[in-house]
Amino acid sequence: MSEVEIITLTGAAVVLHAAAMHDLQNRVQGEVLRPSDEGYEEARKVWNGMVDKRPALIARCTGLADVIAAVTFAREHNLLVSVRGGGHNIAGKAVCSGGLMIDLSRMRRVQVDPGNRTARVEGGATLGDLDRQTQAFGLATTAGVVTHTGVVGLTLGGGVGRLARKYGLACDNLLSVELVTADGQVLRASAAENADLFWGVRGGGGNFGIVASCEFRLHPVGPVVLGGTVIYSLAQARAALKFYDEFARPAPDELSADAFLLTAPDGERVFAISVCHIGSMTQGEQVLRPLRKFGPPLVDQIGPLPYTEMQAAGDVFFPPGLHYYYKSHFMTEINDDAIGTLQTYFATAPSSRSVVAFQHYGGAVSRVGRAETAFSHREAQYNFIPAAVWTDPRESATHLKWVREVWERMQPFATGGVYVNKDGEEQIRAAYGAGYERLVALKNKYDPHNFFRLNANVKPTA
Ligand SMILES: Cc1cc2nc3c(=O)[nH]c(=O)nc-3n(C[C@H](O)[C@H](O)[C@H](O)COP(=O)(O)OP(=O)(O)OC[C@H]3O[C@@H](n4cnc5c(N)ncnc54)[C@H](O)[C@@H]3O)c2cc1C
Repeated sequence: MSEVEIITLTGAAVVLHAAAMHDLQNRVQGEVLRPSDEGYEEARKVWNGMVDKRPALIARCTGLADVIAAVTFAREHNLLVSVRGGGHNIAGKAVCSGGLMIDLSRMRRVQVDPGNRTARVEGGATLGDLDRQTQAFGLATTAGVVTHTGVVGLTLGGGVGRLARKYGLACDNLLSVELVTADGQVLRASAAENADLFWGVRGGGGNFGIVASCEFRLHPVGPVVLGGTVIYSLAQARAALKFYDEFARPAPDELSADAFLLTAPDGERVFAISVCHIGSMTQGEQVLRPLRKFGPPLVDQIGPLPYTEMQAAGDVFFPPGLHYYYKSHFMTEINDDAIGTLQTYFATAPSSRSVVAFQHYGGAVSRVGRAETAFSHREAQYNFIPAAVWTDPRESATHLKWVREVWERMQPFATGGVYVNKDGEEQIRAAYGAGYERLVALKNKYDPHNFFRLNANVKPTA
């Protein structure tokens, strides 16, 4: 292998000579890709087409030993490192310019233990991988709403999804993690071992090491659930949003109800509520009756469907490769002034692909103590997310401006907290809230040189 110029943690460029490159390839069983190698262009891509970064090297890990080898090599050469799971981070933190990208996307095994209702999940598995394997046994755990998102990336920040109101966040269902620290050591963290670290990985992002695998608690779910979407006209949106807030907040834990302002395929701007009920069909029909009667909606697509189909329903709106930008903040209610503001600003969305979403929290999420995990926003009822989606890079400034404006106008109605998985990089304090100082202490202990820095970064002070 010929020499490669690469960026270090100081920001300086150094040359890795042929001997070092051979050494790396010998230590890592998976491919080590340079820009001239076949497969490099595909490997450097992440979900957001706006991200266009070129790492000097990509180490495609095949398992724990490869992760240890890649981390150890990077540390020995003081290299800038990024960690790629499912590649969904909006800012493209999974990929770095000029450094070493440690790519886990070949590590997607999910092993279910149906007797104990647990699953062991590798660091690069996607939500689709997790749901597919667990549903083979009629089991599931909380995961997000788009199947190609990474399980570990989502869980490290909290992880909300359709099961969260019944079973808590993804991180609340975490039993243990196997983590490679900056010094190449493998640590297990659980309630019984390295409990401080276990607290930190449940909401503290990728700050403390690379999770090669982790273990989740599973629950009986489906395989058929009652779910789907009701759609209202924009003229109905004011009343329907008010109804949504009154319906969603006190809903039973079995129901999750996300809401969207979006443009329908025929070009009409509409308001949609997407529901999933995981209890009995009879109970579900009863719970959903007021929603289906309200308005009435223009379209009612609610019915029994496989849970895996419900989980894939959002994929069509967020395909990989388009240009995306979003911001978010938590809310505890949607009052009349918020609704008025939303109506005004949604009407100005410059792209028909752009959406304004409310993701439903509450239920079991809010019954976990604020200090029990590094994710502390337990009071949230909704995460409010204005999201711009477009295809022409020349229009980026217009779309970014729209998202920022909607987000700012909605600030008076927010809790002040933001979700680390959505806004972590831009607002570290608001993302980590009350647990920030505790995270700094953990960072000082487990990663004092800030080896893992391309994330919603907690800066060490040691
Ligand atoms: C379309 C879309 C839908 C989403 N829906 C939801 C949702 O329903 N619920 C929700 O809670 N969030 C949701 N998110 C946010 C998502 O949880 C975060 O973007 C998350 O960080 C994605 O993880 P990833 O592995 O796919 O991304 P990556 O970009 O690969 O990783 C993001 C960061 O996570 C860390 N990381 C990832 N894997 C590992 C690992 N194995 N070990 C250590 N660190 C790691 C790294 O710091 C990395 O920079 C969504 C995002 C998108 C783009």
